[in-house]
Amino acid sequence: MMLIPAHHFRDIERKPQYLQPEKCLPPPQPRPSGAMWFIRDGCGIACAVVTWFLVLYAEFVVLFVMLIPSRDYVYSAINGLVFNVLAFLALASHCRAMLTDPGAVPKGNATKEFIESLQLKPGQVVYKCPKCCSIKPDRAHHCSVCKRCIRKMDHHCPWVNNCVGENNQKYFVLFTMYIALISLHALIMVGFHFLHCFEEDWTKCSSFSPPTTVILLILLCFEGLLFLIFTSVMFGTQVHSICTDETGIERLQRKKQRRERRGSWKSVKETFGGDLSLNWFNPFSGPRHPKPLSDRDWVRQVSSVSDTENTETTTTEEPEEPSEEPKDEDFAEVVDE
Ligand SMILES: [Zn+2]
Ligand SMILES: [Zn+2]
Repeated sequence: MMLIPAHHFRDIERKPQYLQPEKCLPPPQPRPSGAMWFIRDGCGIACAVVTWFLVLYAEFVVLFVMLIPSRDYVYSAINGLVFNVLAFLALASHCRAMLTDPGAVPKGNATKEFIESLQLKPGQVVYKCPKCCSIKPDRAHHCSVCKRCIRKMDHHCPWVNNCVGENNQKYFVLFTMYIALISLHALIMVGFHFLHCFEEDWTKCSSFSPPTTVILLILLCFEGLLFLIFTSVMFGTQVHSICTDETGIERLQRKKQRRERRGSWKSVKETFGGDLSLNWFNPFSGPRHPKPLSDRDWVRQVSSVSDTENTETTTTEEPEEPSEEPKDEDFAEVVDE
């Protein structure tokens, strides 16, 4: 039995405890299927509450300042319906993005039995995450907020208090899209309202006093502009990631040329759940679930060793360059002579 490559010394002979990780607790009981996924992170929960508050504020101003006092009932009914449907879809997408398991790798599966059961062949390697004691499949990264390794982790988003990964990217994309749409719609309505009120008597424009009306509308304008810019950029970045089959972390690690990528249309269909249909825009319809992980998914070829450096990353909305510190990741590789 010999070990390669020579520059990786954290191998089976020098560090035989990789098979019996001391720091790792026994694997916890698997979560019952259907159990709710929710990250207990104070900052994330606060950001998620603020998101809901801002959407409900926009809802209040659109309905009670602009549409209900308006005497043009057709205009109010159509715009009220469109805005409410979009706001409902935005909040539903937010809930689904927050409460869906983004693709967590089973915690503590780096057991002796499991590693042995993989029967590593020459040139094969498995990676163990020392933080959550799991074997990382390809394209998984550890999130220190979720305290789990997440498959195809794009970034951790505090606004949805969850990682954006393989299983919930669709909901996150829909969330950014619907927020951008309601922001644009609110801005257009505020524009019309101002035009209309300049022509008419301000007192007939809203059931609130003119100064209150103006302050509420200006705040809505600010909110709408900020969210429109932010969510449009995020939406564009996510769609680009899906089309190029490259997550935000992979883009930062410049793994572009080293990994074989799927065709963009296949990647889009897998993320949004099948062929193009209305379901793509439905937050209640899930993405197309890839096949469950097989033994092959846990094992990587030795040629991809350098690709997986610095896999422990915590990212926020705009992920930072992962640190250049040597990875604290056990590395086990067995080659038969
Ligand atoms: Zn981990
Ligand atoms: Zn996370």
